[in-house]
Amino acid sequence: MNEFRFSAQRRALIEEIRSRGVTDLELLRLFDLVPRHLFLPEGVWNRAYEDAPLPIGFGQTASQPSLQARSLQVLRPGSEDRVLEIGTGSGFFTALLARLADRVYSVERVRELSLRARKALDGLEIRNVAMLVGDGSIGWRKFAPYDVITVAAASPSVPEALLDQLAPGGRLLIPLGSREAQDMILVTRDAAGELHEEVAIPDCTFVPLLGRYGWSDEALGGGR
Ligand code: SAH
Repeated sequence: MNEFRFSAQRRALIEEIRSRGVTDLELLRLFDLVPRHLFLPEGVWNRAYEDAPLPIGFGQTASQPSLQARSLQVLRPGSEDRVLEIGTGSGFFTALLARLADRVYSVERVRELSLRARKALDGLEIRNVAMLVGDGSIGWRKFAPYDVITVAAASPSVPEALLDQLAPGGRLLIPLGSREAQDMILVTRDAAGELHEEVAIPDCTFVPLLGRYGWSDEALGGGR
């Protein structure tokens, strides 16, 4: 079975993630339970367990696994939580979130990526994910508010619409900065409704968030 391939490489990746400061055993185990290669184009399967971003087509990349593990460590999605993910991409992070949370709502602007991710999730019988094709910079109002909001693309500022859709006690993680370099910012909403902001993971690089509250296509020179 495809699922059981690369198990030695998977163990090596988990060691790498642990060495980067993720010690929570439940999180580490997830990377064994969800085979990353099944979310990637076959042409890059031989690199699926490197701790590296990988191309998934349409000018997009699957994020670096250790960065995803650190993001989960910051966000701590719980079994009762409803999660909004902006930028489904390969669907690998969607699968990790779905294994931790009650329900995941995932928005992706590239239809083909969304369809491919759905197929991979179906293959693993992951059923608690709702997917939408569209501009995630405006969130997904229908199912708001969310306990956790995670954005996998870099933005010039925190989209106002996402803040509006964050529940009391909620956590939002988003890469903010220039086109070339960002810090991952954690925004929390306390029980009284007040927002607090801190740098959770400095120095990272993501593909740009396009759309109404992200970067405009023109600012990128178009065509991406
Ligand atoms: N976590 C994903 C990351 C994919 S890269 C993975 O590991 O595979 C970020 C994704 O965000 C890309 O697929 C890109 O198409 C998508 N994206 C960019 N701007 C978006 C927007 N405004 N709404 C929804 N998705 C967006």
